[in-house]
Amino acid sequence: MLRRFRLEEPTTVAEVAELLGRFGDSAKVYAGGTELLLAMKEGLVQFERLVNVKGVSGLNDVKQNNGDIHIGALCTHHELENSPILKEKLPALVKLEENVANVRVRQVGTLGGNLCFAEPHADPGTLLIALGARLVAEKGDRNREIPAESFFVDAYETSLEPDEVLTQIIVPVPAQPAGVCYMKFGYLERPSVGLAVMVNLNTGRTEIDDIRIAVGCAGPAPKRVAEAEGLLKGRSVDEATQNISQAGEMSGRASQAISDLHGAQDYKEHIVQVLLKRSFQNALSQCA
Ligand SMILES: Cc1cc2nc3c(=O)[nH]c(=O)nc-3n(C[C@H](O)[C@H](O)[C@H](O)COP(=O)(O)OP(=O)(O)OC[C@H]3O[C@@H](n4cnc5c(N)ncnc54)[C@H](O)[C@@H]3O)c2cc1C
Repeated sequence: MLRRFRLEEPTTVAEVAELLGRFGDSAKVYAGGTELLLAMKEGLVQFERLVNVKGVSGLNDVKQNNGDIHIGALCTHHELENSPILKEKLPALVKLEENVANVRVRQVGTLGGNLCFAEPHADPGTLLIALGARLVAEKGDRNREIPAESFFVDAYETSLEPDEVLTQIIVPVPAQPAGVCYMKFGYLERPSVGLAVMVNLNTGRTEIDDIRIAVGCAGPAPKRVAEAEGLLKGRSVDEATQNISQAGEMSGRASQAISDLHGAQDYKEHIVQVLLKRSFQNALSQCA
């Protein structure tokens, strides 16, 4: 049962931060509520005050600013899967968003809420790490950018301070020729394993100029796999293709997979390896 709580209705980020600072642990940001209200109903967490951020303007649009896409933290998954800018510049994110949860959750659940809740079996964090995204955290008139790869600390734990609000997600548009691919695997409601690759080729399309690999869902938090990237970056496409199994093994180990209802640790590590091969090939094919 949902216990009584007080609803605060601020209209600016500064007011949100002030309320969070004033009421400390007894207050929590409330966006779409798809995770928070469920956890409160189940009695897993309790807050005397919910700070409804939906009345704060300017946090629910997608804009292009030079080479970056700025996504407001209050954009719902539904808005993102239908965004014309994302369809043109970041189609891999659109595809991911189309496959998050179900249509009811996508209508109200926000990208910011997904990232801040840091549920281990969530999709977007993994792709955002591979894309080199930065997350903007605001508190009063101060703000800072947190690289996506250092935002996720552990299961349900982020590097946000208790009175900080996530306001924007800034994603660099990949430099061409580039390919981006996110793949997931699972048979329960949420994914068991997620893997994202971003590849940049040289202009002759013969060498891997840059590559970023991230793995998620298998362990407590999504992670970048720099050691696997090292086996592929700066290599010819043929050499990198030969190294992909070894990079997959490294990624599997780096995923910190745990045995749970979604599968055994070694099974998840194997799936990571398979997804890396497939995502890498898919990303390469986009560079043609
Ligand atoms: C049935 C179901 C299936 C799902 N399947 C998937 C799936 O397949 N893949 C996937 O990725 N996700 C899945 N989800 C998760 C879903 O994407 C999230 O529930 C949703 O995005 C959370 O957003 P929200 O706005 O509802 O967050 P809320 O529930 O409002 O908030 C979640 C947490 O984030 C904090 N928070 C929210 N916004 C901010 C902010 N701007 N700044 C600081 N803190 C903030 C809140 O205080 C709270 O702790 C599923 C959820 C459900 C219920």
